[in-house]
Amino acid sequence: VPLLEIDNVTLQYKTTEHLVTAAQDVSFKVYPADRYILLGPSGCGKSTLLKAIGGYMKPVQGRILLNGGEVREPNPERMMVFQEFDQLLPWKTVRENVEFALEASGRLQGKAAAERAAYYIDKVGLAKFIDSYPHTLSGGMKQRVSIARGMAMEPAVLLMDEPFAALDALTRRKMQDELLRLWDDTRFTVLFVTHSIEEAIRIGTRILLLTPHPGQVKAELNSIPAAE
Ligand code: ADP
Ligand code: ADP
Repeated sequence: VPLLEIDNVTLQYKTTEHLVTAAQDVSFKVYPADRYILLGPSGCGKSTLLKAIGGYMKPVQGRILLNGGEVREPNPERMMVFQEFDQLLPWKTVRENVEFALEASGRLQGKAAAERAAYYIDKVGLAKFIDSYPHTLSGGMKQRVSIARGMAMEPAVLLMDEPFAALDALTRRKMQDELLRLWDDTRFTVLFVTHSIEEAIRIGTRILLLTPHPGQVKAELNSIPAAE
């Protein structure tokens, strides 16, 4: 079975005036240890799909399955890393931010949480900043803390919603390289949303192309390894 199955999913927002269909009849499958990209123009429903996969929103039609079981609510098995890094808790240090996520979710407590936090903070190159507060770090460094926090949960799939969009071009490039290096080490499954073709090509092994609905997934493009 696939790790994740998006089966004929339609997603709507209910506003005071009307229903907005954000995604319609979307189907695709995610298998372990690949880097999947959801690529498409602004407004085509990428973020909404990711929110639904994260369990933050319920489909009005279709099903979202994780390891064959229906996704009903947020769960550390599908950890999300967002575009903005202001979700780090400013009164907690880098280590405490990562520990807090582990403890609050019930993943790990005490010494085990501290050790897991330190391991991933080191992996993203911030060992020297483990006791620093977020406001003393650069944008790229804060975003690396967010990634460490997501990875520390060791989720079945890491959901990343334009995580580098707020960064300048040079830092974004560095973060893309960093993510690829981390992935080489750990082979986590990632589902990454972007509207940038360039980013999709750099980051992805599989690219899911979304267009405005209906029947949104138009193509699945697989990367072809360059000849040695
Ligand atoms: P993308 O991530 O591809 O840019 P979104 O998932 O953010 O697209 O949005 C898809 C559609 O849903 C858009 O038409 C957008 O205006 C609408 N939408 C997104 N969020 C909301 C919301 N909270 N309430 C109403 N409509 C929304
Ligand atoms: P990034 O954080 O991705 O390396 P930034 O441009 O955000 O790139 O970094 C801003 C500043 O923080 C730079 O001067 C950089 O040298 C410094 N910096 C970033 N990471 C570290 C690190 N692990 N150790 C020391 N300095 C760092």
